[in-house]
Amino acid sequence: MLQNSFQEIREAVRALCRAFDSSYWQKADEERAYPEEFVRAVTKAGWLSALIPQEYGGAGLGLTEASVVLEEINRCGGNSGACHGQMYNMGTLLRHGSEEQKRKYLPKIASGELRLQAMGVTEPSTGTDTTRLKTMAVRKGNRYVVNGQKVWLSRVQHSELMILLARTTPLAEVKRKSEGMSIFLVDIRSALAGGLTLRPIRNMVNHETNEAFFDNVEIPAESLIGEEGQGFKYLLDGLNAERALIAAECIGDGYWFIDRATSYAKERIVFDRPIGQNQGVQFPIAESYIEVEAANLMRWKACELFDRQQPCGAEANMAKYLAAKASWEAANVCLQTHGGFGFASEYDVERKFRETRLYQVAPISTNLILSYLAEHVLGLPRSF
Ligand SMILES: Cc1cc2nc3c(=O)[nH]c(=O)nc-3n(C[C@H](O)[C@H](O)[C@H](O)COP(=O)(O)OP(=O)(O)OC[C@H]3O[C@@H](n4cnc5c(N)ncnc54)[C@H](O)[C@@H]3O)c2cc1C
Repeated sequence: MLQNSFQEIREAVRALCRAFDSSYWQKADEERAYPEEFVRAVTKAGWLSALIPQEYGGAGLGLTEASVVLEEINRCGGNSGACHGQMYNMGTLLRHGSEEQKRKYLPKIASGELRLQAMGVTEPSTGTDTTRLKTMAVRKGNRYVVNGQKVWLSRVQHSELMILLARTTPLAEVKRKSEGMSIFLVDIRSALAGGLTLRPIRNMVNHETNEAFFDNVEIPAESLIGEEGQGFKYLLDGLNAERALIAAECIGDGYWFIDRATSYAKERIVFDRPIGQNQGVQFPIAESYIEVEAANLMRWKACELFDRQQPCGAEANMAKYLAAKASWEAANVCLQTHGGFGFASEYDVERKFRETRLYQVAPISTNLILSYLAEHVLGLPRSF
């Protein structure tokens, strides 16, 4: 039922995306350029502030609607990775920020004057083992002094603000490893002027991401979001929304691959018949379709529970797992259906193929989802 809903949102996002067709995304990919015009357009149309309440200048929509926006961007051939951060990063500020912080930042984020696209959590030496992160923020009077290193800090060069997770109490001094970390809302330009350096990481997809070095970067004490030491809890609070939104992007990718594979299979004539007449070509496409549709059901379930403020950790994780898997399988099928032409950039399949692959690694790798399910849903012994 839900699949056919939100028609107005779908049509509006599709209309916007028509100005950013395959050639736009291919050019950006070739040049490793940030899709600035697209991000500006999607911000101006108000879609990136879908989750910001109306009283702060946003659209005040639910996660379900927000997920439809990202799904449609990817379904139209775009890459939400350039801008999705704002949808979920802003959740931390929304849920845990003070009224003063919300009034100061949210209307500007909603209008596009400020971007909150970046989130610094992952570190090179600790990876997925987040609670062992080494970046320290030490309180000195009315400031915190930050030292440490982050890796894969995405969109930071196209954002004014970032969410930063740092230790405020050393690991050795806390009772539980999840304690003693804090979240800060950092003004990127001031940080760059005061000791933050970035080193871009060239990667498999056109994704602006960086190593970041904090060398005595001073940030005002008011940058702290919520209570000192509670940052890890706040981070976890935002993850269900992130998982469900990424699942929706994967669903968009999945349908894009299936559409492309189906059209090509109808048109391409080999042995005097469309290749799609061969069951060896049809069946994998049909199978992919089944998998994307099934994953989509879990995505709707996760979004609905989230919007009803009910627990949705299991569903959000399962949606992300299923959707990332389904989109990757659809990508493989689409490439195979195109034969050699699947490798030709002109067909754009190889770009989307690379882009959708990311979702099994980031944000959050597949194993960590399985581990969450094993421990928290099935009650199996904790592994780490
Ligand atoms: C393009 C891109 C953009 C990113 N953007 C951001 C960003 O903006 N902000 C940010 O903070 N991070 C970002 N990340 C980081 C991303 O979240 C991590 O790469 C991801 O969570 C995996 O962590 P890792 O790379 O450190 O892998 P590692 O922790 O080194 O793990 C390597 C592999 O081992 C597996 N593994 C590790 N431990 C276990 C275990 N106990 N059991 C089973 N399997 C295990 C993992 O699942 C993974 O497959 C980005 C990454 C990429 C590639």
